[in-house]
Amino acid sequence: MATRTRRPAPLEQPLTFTRADPEELARFDPATKICSMNCGPHRDDPRTPAERKLLCPECWPNARANLTDTAR
Ligand SMILES: [Zn+2]
Repeated sequence: MATRTRRPAPLEQPLTFTRADPEELARFDPATKICSMNCGPHRDDPRTPAERKLLCPECWPNARANLTDTAR
């Protein structure tokens, strides 16, 4: 009985996600950052929303308090 020759499966490159330093993440308050991209999680992303926000380069410090103070 002939075994089917199987082509080797293409190597799957798993996406790697930069993980935050646990201590830094523990200190991080997600409310201090605003994200214009909503930090959309990838389906394979194991990180928490807070961790994504901490690492997201699109996020910026929440300066809302200052803005409301000066914008009137
Ligand atoms: Zn973000």
